[in-house]
Amino acid sequence: MKITFDKITDKTERYDLTSVAWFPKELGDLVITGPSWVSVVRHTPETLSLKGECSGRLHGICARCGIEVDECLQFAFEHLVTNQKEEVQDVQEIECPEDDLNTIYLLGPELDIDEVLREQAYLESPVRMLCGEDCRGICPGCGAQLNSESCRCSVDYSDSPFAILGKINNK
Ligand SMILES: [Zn+2]
Ligand SMILES: [Zn+2]
Repeated sequence: MKITFDKITDKTERYDLTSVAWFPKELGDLVITGPSWVSVVRHTPETLSLKGECSGRLHGICARCGIEVDECLQFAFEHLVTNQKEEVQDVQEIECPEDDLNTIYLLGPELDIDEVLREQAYLESPVRMLCGEDCRGICPGCGAQLNSESCRCSVDYSDSPFAILGKINNK
């Protein structure tokens, strides 16, 4: 979704997030489960205020063992959007960083909301999903799921009368 900078008025415009097409696929599959919206309002002739909130469930796979995992994903943000160039006009502004609002410097006439949401998603999503902090993953040698099996690397079962059982279990 793109909005035209000049068309925003001082009346708050709110859009509900129904689609998750903006969500980066490599982070997992997002399902919206709670309040998810974006609002925009004119602040000054040169600045807009952009706020938003997203709550959903993120579905992905554990980075260590590969089983499917679900995690809550919830974030809120507030940005200042300006079409002025990124430069400090006077010295005073450097000396008083009064707030830590993120400022988006708009280069064209349109603000791409999806792009803002996407960046937010990268910031807020887990770097890698885990089924648990103590997940032991998969043994690179024998492929054993170390959470439920023990590593077979150091044991040679091939001559054991139970080798056939191992093959059946692995099916
Ligand atoms: Zn795991
Ligand atoms: Zn192993």
